[in-house]
Amino acid sequence: MSNQVALVTGASRGIGFGIAMALAREGFAVALNGQRDSEQLRNSVALVEELGVPAVAIPFDVADLSLHDSAILRVEESLGPLTTLVNNAGVSVLNRGDPLDVTEESWNRCLEVNAKSQFFLTRQFSRRLLTQSRDEKFYYSVINVTSANAVAAAENRVEYCASKAAASMVSKCFAVRLAREGISVFDVQPGLISTDMTASVIDEYAQRSAAGLTLIPRVGQADEIGAIVANLATGKLPYTTGQTISADGGLLVPRF
Ligand code: NAP
Repeated sequence: MSNQVALVTGASRGIGFGIAMALAREGFAVALNGQRDSEQLRNSVALVEELGVPAVAIPFDVADLSLHDSAILRVEESLGPLTTLVNNAGVSVLNRGDPLDVTEESWNRCLEVNAKSQFFLTRQFSRRLLTQSRDEKFYYSVINVTSANAVAAAENRVEYCASKAAASMVSKCFAVRLAREGISVFDVQPGLISTDMTASVIDEYAQRSAAGLTLIPRVGQADEIGAIVANLATGKLPYTTGQTISADGGLLVPRF
């Protein structure tokens, strides 16, 4: 097979779907993951296929580490050897609110889905890649979608911030380990992006963005994160690894 092959977790909708579409436009064969086998996931696969590339649905819970190996094998049986892993699946907190009210359930859920899964799926992807021969014309990378909250504290979603900070450090540590193996690792940190995850707060953030919260005075869209990831995954940042890309309209640019 002549395509690069990407597995995008959390690609049934939102940012992950935007990433899957952007990769497909670059000619990638794409495996789209969601938590479960849903109509939405199947529709998203069909939309990627309409762009003229092979695509497959690989539903599994990324927090269930016992499923990682078989998921990667299923991708490779359908599409060929993986070149690219995009760890995008994520969850927000169970309830936005006072840190003094955070439950162990919400803490564990954020840490397991947002951080632990990224570490172990990257480990599995890397182990597999190291046993295979490579195609020199391909660019090999792991791209982790974390968050501006890896850096910026939010009082009403502490466990989310902690999980994203952990995932961000996982990206750096893997960049250190995998550079000598010819695998680049990036940490993409979105700011305020209009998706299901932010639906309940997006109007408020759109107003605050227009009023100066972000330098670009609007919230972002999933296809914009897709374009960033597609540029990274096709090696458009050569001789670069371990870097954080703030995809946040300038939200975190220090100013006074
Ligand atoms: P979303 O619209 O809520 O979509 C979440 C995606 O993740 C869905 O495809 C969902 O699958 C999948 N998912 C959730 N838990 C999963 C699990 N345990 N196993 C496999 N898949 C799972 O979220 P989004 O806004 O696109 O966010 C995508 C990523 O960007 C997340 O990591 C999020 O933290 C990060 N992010 C988002 C924003 C923002 O403003 N939206 C900002 C910063 C960072 P199902 O459809 O099967 O549920």
